[in-house]
Amino acid sequence: MCADQANLGAAVQALEAGGADMLHFDVMDGDFVPNFTFGPQIISGLRPLTRLPFDTHLMVRHPERYIDMFVDAGSDILTVHPEATDHLQRALTLIRRAGAKAGVALNPATPLSAIKHVLDVVDVVVLMTVNPGFAGQAFVPAVLPKIRALSRLVRRHRLPIQIAVDGNIGPKTIPLCLEAGAEILVCGTSSIFLPNADITETTRRLKGSLAV
Ligand code: ZN
Repeated sequence: MCADQANLGAAVQALEAGGADMLHFDVMDGDFVPNFTFGPQIISGLRPLTRLPFDTHLMVRHPERYIDMFVDAGSDILTVHPEATDHLQRALTLIRRAGAKAGVALNPATPLSAIKHVLDVVDVVVLMTVNPGFAGQAFVPAVLPKIRALSRLVRRHRLPIQIAVDGNIGPKTIPLCLEAGAEILVCGTSSIFLPNADITETTRRLKGSLAV
């Protein structure tokens, strides 16, 4: 979403050259969130350009209708919102059955209890640190205790679940998220796509600062 939409292929190659570990695609339907981005054709068009895993974040209502489409397009992780479906368990199971890792994303106001009964079919939990829909929004600090609580839960029960954070992830918020237990940082306009920046360079610098 944060890349130059007229040059997405160049952005994929620049991010890979900078050392990005995976690429995150924000799909918006103009209904679940008040904005539009792109569909599976863009993802399948970019798939041959890199071997990096594709992490597709569906901010769409009734995501269960589109699972096969986005996995066939080349998504390695497919993430849905519990607020967008009446059948979360089924959606997550269908994602795994289609051959991708199942992700579930929670808006800032959605409690962890929303996913309590599906943790056995989840590979990644994405905690939204802004309300989804647009780049450049303010980080919601109330999400930090939620990251901590999820991290405790995952460790206590030794669940094979990774914790991701998405939204205004940059120099000020990265240390807070890592300290709270986040393992995947979805980075956009706060850290990589800076005004007039060379995104290979900003990615390299960010990776260097994390020393991973
Ligand atoms: Zn996202």
